[in-house]
This record gives sequence, C-alpha cells and structure tokens, in this order.
Amino acid sequence: MQEFDKDIQFLKGVGPKRAELLNKELNLFTLKDLLYYFPFRYIDRSKYYKVNEINEQLQNIQSIGIISNFQLKGSGKKSYLTAQFKDETGTIELIWFKGVKWISQNIDAGKQYIIFGKPSRFGNKLNIAHPEIDKPEEAKQKLSTSLYSVYSSTEILNKKNINSKVFRTIIANVFEKTDSKIPETLPAYLTEKLKLISHHDAIRNIHFPSNNIMLQKALFRLKFEEFFFIQLKILKQKYKRKNSYKGYEFPIIGSYFSEFYKTKLQFELTQAQKRVIKEIRNDFSSGKQSNRLLQGDVGSGKTLVGLMLMLIALDNKFQAALMAPTEILAQQHFKTISDFLSGLDIEVALLTGSVKTKERSLIHENLENGKIQILIGTHALIEDTVKFKNLGIVVIDEQHRFGVAQRAKMWSKNQLPPHMIVMTATPIPRTLAMTVYGDLDLSVIDELPPGRKAVKTIHTYEPKRLQVYKFLKDEIKKGRQIYIVYPLISESENFDYKALEEGYEHILSEFSPPEYMISIVHGKMKPNEKENEMNRFIKGKSNIMIATTVIEVGVNVPNASVMLIESAERFGLSQLHQLRGRVGRGDYQSFCILMTSYKLSKEAKTRIETMVQTNDGFKIAETDMKLRGPGESEGTRQSGLPFELKLADLTKDYKILQLAAHIADDVLKTDIYLENPQNQLLENKLKQLKPTDYNWGLIS
Ligand code: ADP
Ligand code: MG
Repeated sequence: MQEFDKDIQFLKGVGPKRAELLNKELNLFTLKDLLYYFPFRYIDRSKYYKVNEINEQLQNIQSIGIISNFQLKGSGKKSYLTAQFKDETGTIELIWFKGVKWISQNIDAGKQYIIFGKPSRFGNKLNIAHPEIDKPEEAKQKLSTSLYSVYSSTEILNKKNINSKVFRTIIANVFEKTDSKIPETLPAYLTEKLKLISHHDAIRNIHFPSNNIMLQKALFRLKFEEFFFIQLKILKQKYKRKNSYKGYEFPIIGSYFSEFYKTKLQFELTQAQKRVIKEIRNDFSSGKQSNRLLQGDVGSGKTLVGLMLMLIALDNKFQAALMAPTEILAQQHFKTISDFLSGLDIEVALLTGSVKTKERSLIHENLENGKIQILIGTHALIEDTVKFKNLGIVVIDEQHRFGVAQRAKMWSKNQLPPHMIVMTATPIPRTLAMTVYGDLDLSVIDELPPGRKAVKTIHTYEPKRLQVYKFLKDEIKKGRQIYIVYPLISESENFDYKALEEGYEHILSEFSPPEYMISIVHGKMKPNEKENEMNRFIKGKSNIMIATTVIEVGVNVPNASVMLIESAERFGLSQLHQLRGRVGRGDYQSFCILMTSYKLSKEAKTRIETMVQTNDGFKIAETDMKLRGPGESEGTRQSGLPFELKLADLTKDYKILQLAAHIADDVLKTDIYLENPQNQLLENKLKQLKPTDYNWGLIS
C-alpha cells in the first residue's frame, strides 16, 4: 500500500474520534486526502503585538504573554470561560463560549503562550474570543513559517476545537512521519521546460510556505496542474474523435451559394462573418467532421451565416437541417429563410410538433427521397421517424436549450455524422468556452452589421413612472411597439402571475383599448394561447407585449423599440442583456429602460451599471461570471461545470489556463494517445479522473 493511502486515524494528533469527524464532515479518509485539503488563505504572523497596542480596529493579531486567572462564569448552557492575558505592557481578557473543557485541560495557568485572534470591545473592556493558542516552542516548529495557512472548517469541527491550528499540526505530522515524497504528477520534461517546482514541494509550500515567493510558486504549479489535466482530457477526446470520425467533404461552391450571394444578399457581409465562413469552409475540406460553437451577440448575423453554410451543403448534393428551441422561433426561421431563398428553386420545409399527421408523413417521405433540401424545425427533427436521404449539416440555434443527448442523436442520421454548427447568442467568456466547450472548435462573430444603432439603456426609479409612460406613448404614436417584462419573483408560478397581473391591471388603466392593444404572455398559459398572443404582437396587432421571463428567446420584432424591465434589480446580468437584445433589431433608435427601487444591493448596482455602460455581450458575460462564479453563469447553468477546481479560478487565472491549454496541445500534437513512455504519468492520471467528470464525447 502506498504510504499516502494510509488511514488518517493512525496519524499522530488524529486518532479514531477525530478521524470519524473528519471522514464525516470533510470526506477526509487518507493521508493523501489531508495533503490535498488545501488552505483557502494565509495570515502573516511575522508581527507580534504588545498588549497596549491592541485595539478593536485591528483584524487578527498575535501576541506573546502569560495566560492566568481562569474563571468559569454564568451557569448551565450559558456558562463561559474567561482568562487574563498579560505582558509587560498590560492585560486583556480572553473568552471561550465553546470548548471550555478542552481549554481548561490543555492550557496551563501561569505559562507563556502565543495567542492569535480578533480583538473586540465589550463596553469599556477589550477581549479576544476563541483565540488560537500555541506554546512558544511550537511556534518555532520546523515547518512553521510566518505565513500561516487557514483552512475552512465546519460548525461541528469548530465545536470540537478542530481549527486551522489542528490542521496545520496534523498535516505537518504527515510530512514528518512519512519518508516518501508525494509522487510527481508531471513528466520531468514538462516541469523542466516550465520551470515548475516539484509536486511534493508545491504541496508542502501550499500548507507551509517557507516564504511568499515559494507560496506563489506552489500556487502556480498546482493551478497549472488543475487546468492542464482538464485541457489534456478535453483535447485528447477531441483529437481522438477527429481522428476516428471522418466527415463529409464539401469541395464545391456551386450555384445555390453563388446565386444567393449575387442576387439575394442585399448587404456586405461583415469581416467577422466572412472570417467565420472561411473557418468553417476549412472544416468542410478537411475530411473531418466539423463540430463548432458559433458565438455571436444577438443580431450579429449568425442565422445568415448558418444559411450560407447550408447552401454549401446543398451545392454538394447534401441536405441541411436547422433546429430551433421553440415553435415560434422555428416558424420565424422558416419565414426568413423562405423569403431569403424565394426564386432560387430550393425546397424548404417546416417540421414542428403541430404539423398534422398527413402533412408530416409527406415531409417524411420527401426527406427520404431527397426532395426536401432544407428542413427547419424544433425537437421534432430529432425523432427517429425523421430520416434523411443524405443529411450533410445540422445548424442548431440557441444551443443552451438543447441537451447534450438530444444533439448527439442528430449524429446518427446519416452514415457519417453530419457537420454540426451550434449557434449561441449567450456570450461565454473565453475561459469558460475553453474548458466547458473545449472539445468544440470555437468561432466568434465579434462585430455587428454596420449602421446598427446601439440600444440606449436608461436606469430609472419608481417616481419617474409617469414620465416613462409618456415616453412609451410617444413611441407608440410613432408606430413602434413596446415590451414590458416582469421578473419571476419566486419559483412559484402563482407569485410570478400575481406580480404580472397587478402590473397588467396598472398598464391597462394607463394604456386602455382601443387606443392601445396589449398582448400578455406568462407561464400559466397553454402553449397555443401563448403562441396566439406572441403572434398578435409579431404581426403588429398589439402595441405592448407584457411578459414574464418566459418571453421567447430570439423572437424578432424589428418594429419594437422599447424594452421596459420592471424590478430590473431582480434579474441576472445575462438575462438583462438577452432581454435588451429583443429591441434594436430594426432601423429605429431603441431603448432599454431599467426600472428599480432606490434600495439596491451592491451586486444589483454593479449589474445595472454594467448594463448602462456597455452593450458588449462579452464584457457583460465576464462581469456576470465574476459576480456569480463560473458555475452559475448563463453559459453553463444547464450543464454545470464538468469538473471541480480547488485552487484555480476561471475568472482570475486566465493566463495560467491559456498556458495549460497550449502545453496540453503541444503534448498531444506528437502523442495523441499518450503512448509515449515519457507521457505514461499523464495517461495514468487521466484514467484516475472520474469518467463522469467529462462526459462530452458526443457533445452536439
Ligand atoms: P443573429 O441570428 O445573430 O441574431 P441574424 O442572422 O438573425 O442575427 O441577423 C439579424 C439581422 O441582421 C437580420 O435581419 C439579418 O438579415 C441582418 N444581417 C445579417 N448580416 C448582416 C450584414 N452583414 N449587414 C447587414 N445586415 C445583416
Ligand atoms: Mg438568431
């Protein structure tokens, strides 16, 4: 048995009782578990305070002196222990509400100790509650330094007095009692090349930094490792897949594409659109399957790019499919694309859940005989009964609404898997894209078509409501349409409905028919009711659309010029940005009005300010990730982060991630299957990672 696999209960300073607690509370079973239980911060304990320098303004302080005069005060459950702490300059009180027994058994009155804790003031008396206590000789221990590691604990462990000091002591014991070095995880050629300290030294210094420089080196090495193995895993899968799956080649640019380009396209493509088309055309001639995430802000022209790629497939005698997350969106795509292609003799069909049986079987037939060239639809496309003659490309819109499994199903619709282009308007910060979607290639449209008027965003408060209404009325007079959105106040639909209902009544009293027509959409409505209301608005039959967040993603009403968001402080940043993206789609100057109460949390303030300051979806995504943490950001909420990061931080350690990705790529370039003896360590480590950690094999 490996020395580090030994049970912690036999470690000096642990024993069966503490071992059981550590098992239960923190999942720590072996010496190795302990070594990899990393501190979350450090305290500089190079300074000693004299008692007369201590005041309640200070954070944790350290002082050396004599503890004496223990007194048990109060009674029963409310009893507590006090003591005097004294040096040559004065006296301060120490106080314990918990762990009284342990203190009285282990601390000797009249002896010298080093105490460490946060001073506070009660009336005119200074005290320190629950100080950490060391004997002076302990503090000079071999492993101790002036940088003290602090470990997170639990309430139960705290009660049993298992604090950072205990962790430091028992982890120091692991180092003292074991002769072996903690096994290296990276091959020597990499540690040398990158000038990394050894894994053993990194682990030792993360717990007991010999100085700040060594601490930084340890942090760098361990963060690098975390990212490196994630990247290695993802990229290895990606390369393996690329090698084992052939893809269709589309060498021809034929008449469909050219005709469309020459006669139908009324505008120049943006540079970004051209670049992305070129990137994907490279995939088409590589003999490998294309598997790409196409990112671009709302209105950046992704759908158009998707269409042009489909035309290339058609030119090469293949069929194409476009999948949308909702029926309304599928209908919209069908209409836009049919309009775009009118006169080009291309067979486009729409397949959704509401297509009647008779028509449906006709569509099925014409897909199998190849008559239908472009199929647009919803989830209905995935069903097994939908078979193609020769499907060459699948374009998926608004990726985050589709599960991984659903996407994977499209793979089996032809002999070779079709090319997959996954479009998303949810900007994903680069760091996240590299990790979560690392096995998809990434193309970014980072430019809006020229002449777009940026949406003006205004933050306003309740007392200005009448002014806002006046503004809405002026816009409606000009012929524009308005969205008013209410937040989901709680998970309960009833609540949500109530806020909306009240808002609706209120709006109705200000904007009454027949002068103003109102549509309303909320979670309690049946799908076809929703659709009717949406369609009324899309067709311009109503001036105002009142909705909760169920408002369909991606609907395109270019005539809408105002997005009024009620209680905007309750929305997440990405959500606000998505909602704002519903306006500014036509030629008109558009506005996003954020209505909030005066009382805003610090985070809410940051969200609102960010919205007012920028329209850049990527900046917004970065801020969102910083505020909420990577696992909660819009780009990952559905899938969650597929791995755990102990030390590295996606929002701060981008440079390390980039290096890790680069090195992982280098390693795999010469040894895709990690068969080279010098990469044995790496392969072994990858095998140890839980398979469930990264189940992205067939992502989209
Ligand atoms: P997305 O799918 O990224 O939200 P769309 O492809 O729906 O964007 O494009 C939004 C609108 O902009 C559409 O009306 C589209 O025809 C138009 N558009 C796309 N590309 C350009 C361009 N290069 N110049 C001008 N308008 C464009
Ligand atoms: Mg779109």
